[in-house]
Amino acid sequence: MSSAILWKARKHLKVQCISCSHYCLIEPGDRGQCGVRKNIEGEMQTLVGNRVAALNLDPIEKKPLFHFLPGTLTLSLGTMGCNLACTFCQNYSLSQYPKQNRLVEGEPITADRIVSIAGAYYAASISYTYSEPTVFMELVMDIARPAKEKGLKNIIVSNGFQSPDCLREMNGLIDAANIDLKAFKDDFYREYCKADLKPVLNNLIRIREMGWWLEVTTLLIPGLNDSEEELEDMAGFIFKELGADTPWHISRFHPTFKMTSVKSTPVETLERAWTIGREKGIRFVYTGNVPGHKGENTLCPACGKEVITRIGFEIKGYNVNDRFCAYCGETIPGVWK
Ligand code: SF4
Repeated sequence: MSSAILWKARKHLKVQCISCSHYCLIEPGDRGQCGVRKNIEGEMQTLVGNRVAALNLDPIEKKPLFHFLPGTLTLSLGTMGCNLACTFCQNYSLSQYPKQNRLVEGEPITADRIVSIAGAYYAASISYTYSEPTVFMELVMDIARPAKEKGLKNIIVSNGFQSPDCLREMNGLIDAANIDLKAFKDDFYREYCKADLKPVLNNLIRIREMGWWLEVTTLLIPGLNDSEEELEDMAGFIFKELGADTPWHISRFHPTFKMTSVKSTPVETLERAWTIGREKGIRFVYTGNVPGHKGENTLCPACGKEVITRIGFEIKGYNVNDRFCAYCGETIPGVWK
């Protein structure tokens, strides 16, 4: 247990967390909704300040980031705990377990050790992922500073439900983000995630304004967020508010956690969403969780040729010279070196 940042003291030894848009008001002895931030005698403590519960070396394509240092490795880590409660969470054993005062697991590790592991394995970046970096902000900051000094990039993979203060705190240290846009209806966020849509939309715009490299992911769940109208609204928002060059990953759902009665997303639904995204003007739309599908490839927006060919998380063909299409010279937006 160690001191948390981003909180305020309130009356009667209560504390208010300002790390995410829940702004939990926490009684002494209680935890916030994420299960890993606790009021100890009127002071906010984090239960995951140095407790890494998952650590892996991943291709950056797995985050997914397709236009940020493609083909490189990223040292990926996460703690337990999450501020959302998605019924379709793919990492629920990490994210949901600490709720209801359960044990917070994880190995104690120092920031310097993480940075040194990243160096030893030639990772180009460190990704704060698997659960939700917002709830382990202190660890993110502790690692991101020395990582940046060593020339490593820092990446968050997030549900986008931070507070504006949290984003401001990270600004200057984070280079890229993949943010979920889980749906375009508040009802969906309330019913299936115990959150709200609006803060996520605002944060996407903020991140774009702060200049981090941004990619957006939507997991398409049959019958819940895949209507023509909702996909058009989502694509329209990305195009208008985030820009035509913001990559949009539309991923296939598989039954999991509390959503085992819903079938996997038909590939045709992903293809329909891909077409809607392109028709709305988004220049880079990708299908996810269907390895080998042509929707994984990057097409040059000018000549239409495949400039990056992928199968799953592996790059099979690469035709970007510096940051230009090798066929016609068009600029391909992204961070390429
Ligand atoms: S991070 Fe969010 S869910 Fe967790 S205590 Fe803070 S406000 Fe509550």
